[in-house]
Amino acid sequence: MMTKRNDYRSLREQMVQSQLMPRRIRDGRTLGAMGRVPREAFVPEKYRHSAYDDRPLPIGEDQTISQPYMVALMTEALELSGGETVLEIGTGSGYQTAVLAEMATRVVSIERISTLAERARAVLQQLGYTNVTVLVGDGTRGCAEHAPFDAIIVTAGSPGVPVSLKEQLADGGRLVIPVGSRGYQELNRIRRRGNDFITENLGGCVFVPLIGVQGWEWH
Ligand code: SAM
Repeated sequence: MMTKRNDYRSLREQMVQSQLMPRRIRDGRTLGAMGRVPREAFVPEKYRHSAYDDRPLPIGEDQTISQPYMVALMTEALELSGGETVLEIGTGSGYQTAVLAEMATRVVSIERISTLAERARAVLQQLGYTNVTVLVGDGTRGCAEHAPFDAIIVTAGSPGVPVSLKEQLADGGRLVIPVGSRGYQELNRIRRRGNDFITENLGGCVFVPLIGVQGWEWH
């Protein structure tokens, strides 16, 4: 089934109005970014007609592009006003990366699976995002080279909060991360105030595991 560009635009508007606004996504910048980024470009061809469905979708390599609402909730929780440098762990399809790139000055995104990183890099480049760097590696170590970060987002479920990410968070910065078991996590927002880290629970969620030295073991 062929879907035309205008149809996608209208599906995108519907997604914002029927999935995000009724669930209390209030930040106008988040709603605006999600209303602009063409999610269909980040989804494998065979799922393209489902790009705006209210659910995650497979992107290959046993990984997923997150549900639009979860992308919006995590983005809003970062409290971006436009001047920030953001670190994302788990590039996946690159969709969340594009939403962040619409809202911040610079985005560094790390993906452990090189085929996904390459594909995301190509789509982001094709769409004209010049303020994004996609790196391949273990994001649980963060990226000391570009630290400190005003905001850090982890889009995979972690058994705990990686120490490197806390260390690389700027004073006043926000770290949004799902923490829990392999099968279920709580979405945490952690604010840094000097050497204090204040945690808020934003609710339950289910993510693929964060695999790495400060995450889960691969098995
Ligand atoms: N935000 C993505 C999107 O919009 O498509 C979805 C991310 S997907 C739910 C989680 C991603 O985290 C997967 O692509 C997975 O390979 C990646 N990942 C898992 N552990 C990682 C690690 N230690 N470092 C970097 N990426 C990791």
